[in-house]
Amino acid sequence: MSKPLLRFAPSPNGYLHLGHALSALATWDAAQKLGGTALLRIEDIDIARCKPEFTQAIFEDLAWLGLSWPEPVVYQSHRFDIYAGAANRLRDMDLLYPCFCSRSDIADKANATDPDGAPLYPGTCRHLSNAERIERLERGDPVQFRLDTEAAIERTGLLTFSVIGPTILDRPQIRYARPQRWGDAVLQRKDTPTSYHLSVVVDDAAQGITHVTRGRDLEAATDIHVLLQMLLGLPTPYYHFHRLLLTDNGEKLAKSKGSQSLRDLRAQGWTPEDVQRAVSLLPSREKVAR
Ligand code: GLU
Repeated sequence: MSKPLLRFAPSPNGYLHLGHALSALATWDAAQKLGGTALLRIEDIDIARCKPEFTQAIFEDLAWLGLSWPEPVVYQSHRFDIYAGAANRLRDMDLLYPCFCSRSDIADKANATDPDGAPLYPGTCRHLSNAERIERLERGDPVQFRLDTEAAIERTGLLTFSVIGPTILDRPQIRYARPQRWGDAVLQRKDTPTSYHLSVVVDDAAQGITHVTRGRDLEAATDIHVLLQMLLGLPTPYYHFHRLLLTDNGEKLAKSKGSQSLRDLRAQGWTPEDVQRAVSLLPSREKVAR
């Protein structure tokens, strides 16, 4: 097998917190145990929310934790053309369609939820005629593009991938992917010409990532990634899902919930060793229902 390559892929839409520290430390630790290398990738497709000062802070925080990575660092915001090429391949396969629904249209019509608990897209625009699509596109209606998941699965058949855990040195176990539980995922958003799912799959392949280490909150989303890899003829890496740190109320740490940033902790006198200790002592969740 080629030399293991892993990556830490934060989004610079806020400062890193202890949950990110756990993810970064788990990635570098796994790379070391596998005799491989950890790369850093900046996932800044969200043009409105990502800021250069947050990217700068990511470099500083990781260096402070004692982590280093090979240059050059890949920035997703420099790669929109490449994601457009991948989307066009799916369009040529007739697997991508325009969707004009707003969030409230979807919330009103949905009668199920996706694995993240969001209203499941009921497939409304999958049934539009070509004439109506063209009319609305020409009119400039806000549009996002969705994968026709059922049609995609019909092409690929049964999808499997290999999960390694609980430690990175355990034997891989085969899993079946069930992307249909996400409905027709958005691959090109209204506000940016790609999506997390599309970019992450294209870049993991472009960078030759052999092992993806990510939190259990992204475990279910991996099903969509495995489907996209198969459709685009890209290799499926091994996946390792690490535990998530919880707040005292049992919630996931998140920037949006005001979890303290690493830079705040550093300003309060924390050392990198304090972070290591906190990450190993804080309550966490090993398993998420699938
Ligand atoms: N960029 C993603 C995040 O900030 C993680 C990427 C991944 O592990 O796939 O949560």
